[in-house]
Amino acid sequence: MRIIFLILLFCLPTAAQVIFQTPLSERNANYQIKATLDCQSKIVTATERLTWKNISKRSTSELQFHLYMNAFRNDSSTFLSQSRKRYPDAPAPSRQELGGIDIRQFVLNNSYDLLPAMEYIQPNDSNLHDSTVIRVKLPRSVRAGEEIVLEVEFTCRLPKIINRTGYSDDFFLLGQWFPKIGVLQDGGWHCHQFFPNSEFFADFGNYEVELTLPSQYITGSTGILLREERGDSLKTLYYRAEDVHDFAVVAWPKFRQEVREIEGIRVILLYAPEHSSQRERYMTAISNAIKYLNNWISPYPYPQLTLVDPPLHAFRAGGMEYPCFITGGAIWGIPAEFRFFPEEVTIHEYAHQYFYGILATNEAEEPWLDEGFTSYATLRMMNHTYGKSASLSELFNVQISQTDEYKGNYLKRPGLDIVWKSSWDFGPRAYGVNTYSKPALILQTLENYLGKAVMDTIIQKYYQNWKFRHPKTSDFLTLVNSVSGLDLGWYFEQALQSTKILDYALDSLNSKETNTIDSVNGRAITKYHNRVVIKRLGDFIFPVEIASILENGDTLRQNWNGADSIWLFENSTTSRIREVQVDPEQKIWLDLNWSNNSLMVKKNYFATFRHWLQMMKIYQQSMLGVLLF
Ligand SMILES: [Zn+2]
Repeated sequence: MRIIFLILLFCLPTAAQVIFQTPLSERNANYQIKATLDCQSKIVTATERLTWKNISKRSTSELQFHLYMNAFRNDSSTFLSQSRKRYPDAPAPSRQELGGIDIRQFVLNNSYDLLPAMEYIQPNDSNLHDSTVIRVKLPRSVRAGEEIVLEVEFTCRLPKIINRTGYSDDFFLLGQWFPKIGVLQDGGWHCHQFFPNSEFFADFGNYEVELTLPSQYITGSTGILLREERGDSLKTLYYRAEDVHDFAVVAWPKFRQEVREIEGIRVILLYAPEHSSQRERYMTAISNAIKYLNNWISPYPYPQLTLVDPPLHAFRAGGMEYPCFITGGAIWGIPAEFRFFPEEVTIHEYAHQYFYGILATNEAEEPWLDEGFTSYATLRMMNHTYGKSASLSELFNVQISQTDEYKGNYLKRPGLDIVWKSSWDFGPRAYGVNTYSKPALILQTLENYLGKAVMDTIIQKYYQNWKFRHPKTSDFLTLVNSVSGLDLGWYFEQALQSTKILDYALDSLNSKETNTIDSVNGRAITKYHNRVVIKRLGDFIFPVEIASILENGDTLRQNWNGADSIWLFENSTTSRIREVQVDPEQKIWLDLNWSNNSLMVKKNYFATFRHWLQMMKIYQQSMLGVLLF
C-alpha cells in the first residue's frame, strides 16, 4: 500500500515519459546513467551512455571531459592546493574524506575502446597533479553535425562534504559526480580545470538517471521521478530531466518532505526535521521568488523544482544551484526578522534557475554573468518583497538591507581587480566582490541610469534571445546598446574592465547675502550669491545630477557630465540655498561614499546623523561578512 501511495504521490503523469513535446534546447549532450550508491563505502558505481552531437561548425579530432570529483582526489589537486593556501589553518582532509572518480571503460560507437587514448590535461595551470580534465583522441574526427555514442563505466568516491558535493554521515549530495563532456564551440573546447572559484559550464540535453540505493533513503533530484521499484533492502528510482545541463541528486533517510503547487510548478521541499519551524519561511520565499521572476522575466519553464534544506552537519551542502534543484540553508531558532537564512539564500539560488540554468553562461570564463546577474535579481527581489531599508534584517531594530550587504562587501575592496575576467584568474579575495557585489551594483546603477522600463526590456530580451543557449558578455553588451539606443561602451569599459573608483563629493558651498535697492520702487531686494564646488574624487567618470534645495522649498536641478576633476558653478537666487546634493536620488550605487554627496549652509545635525547611521550599517554588514554562495 505504501509503495502505491508513494508512486502516486511522486509521479507526474508522463504517459510517454516525455516532459516537453517540443524541445527547448539543442539537446546535443544526452545522458543515460545507471548508478548504485553504496551508502557504507560512499561510492557510486555507474554506467553512462552519452549521446553527443557536434553542434559547432567544425570537426573535432578529440573530446574533452570534466572529472570534477578528482578535485578532491589528492592534496595537490589545483582545487585543494589553492584552498589550502587560502585557508592555511584549515585541517587537511583525511584519506577517508577525499574523493575521486575513475573511468573503467570508455567505448565509442560500440566499437572503439577509447581508454588507451585517454589522458589527463591541465589547460589552465599545468599542475600535473590535477586530474579534473581528460582529453580523448578519437580514431577519426567527428564532423560538424555528426552524432556519436559513448559508453562509460565509472566509480565515483564521494568526498566528505565540500563545495556542495559529497557525504556527511548518512547525508549525500551528488553534485558533479559523473564524467561530463565539455562544450565545443567554434573557438575550440571549453573544458577547464576545477578551481576553488570556478563553477560549471555544459551543453543542454536530456537525462535519464536510474539510481539504486537503500530503501529508507528519501531523495530529490534535478529530474522528475517517473517510477520506483523496491526490493528487500534497496530501491531503484527512475528519473528524467529534459533541456538541462547538469543533474544533481540528494539523499538522506531523515528528510521530511512537503510538496506544493506554486504558479503551476510542483515545488518539493526536502527539509531537516530540526528546521520544521522554518518550512513556511522557505515556502513563502520560494513562492515570492517564483512569482517575481515569472512576472519580471518569463514563466519558469520546467514543471518541477526541488528545494533542499540540508541538516546542520551538512551545512556545506547549502546555498547551491543545479537545474531544477537548489539547496538553501536554515539555522534552528533563527528569528523571522533575520532573513539571511533561509530567505536570501533561497531567493538567490532560485534566481540562478534563470542566470545559469536557462541562460547557461560560462561560469568558469565569465563568472560575473551568472553570479552578478543573480545578485542583481536577488537585490530586486529582496527589496521588493521585504522592503528597501530592512530587506535582510531588522533584528534588534538594526536595519540591514540587501543594498547594505552588497555595498558593504564592495566598500571593503572597491578597487581590487576587474569584473570581466576568468574565475581562475582572480585572487582569493577579489573573486567574491567582483562576481557578486560589484556586478549587482553595476547593473542597478545601469537600471537607474536608463530607467526601470528600459532595463526590464533589456533583461527580458536577453532571456528571450538567449534562453537555453550560452550567451557571453559581449552578447549582453550588444543587446544593451541596441535596446537603449545608446553606446554605453564608456560605462562598461570602466565598470567591467577597470578598477576605477567612482566617488563624487560636494567640496564647498557658499551662499552670500546681497542687498540692493530696486531702482523703480526703491524697495530693498535681498538676493543670495551661491558658489558651489563639486569634486570628482575617483577616476570613474559618470554623469551626475545636482540638486540645490532652497529655503523656500524650491529645488534647482543641474546636470554635470562628471568629466573634469572639479566643477564650480555660481548662481543667484532669491531664497537662500539650504542644501546641495550630488546624485540626490542616490541612483549611482557604485558611488563609494554617499556621505560626502551633500552639504548644507546651516549644519543639519539630523541629516549628518542619518549619513553616519547609513555608513555604520554598511560597515557593520561588511564586518559581519556573511557569504553563503
Ligand atoms: Zn550564486
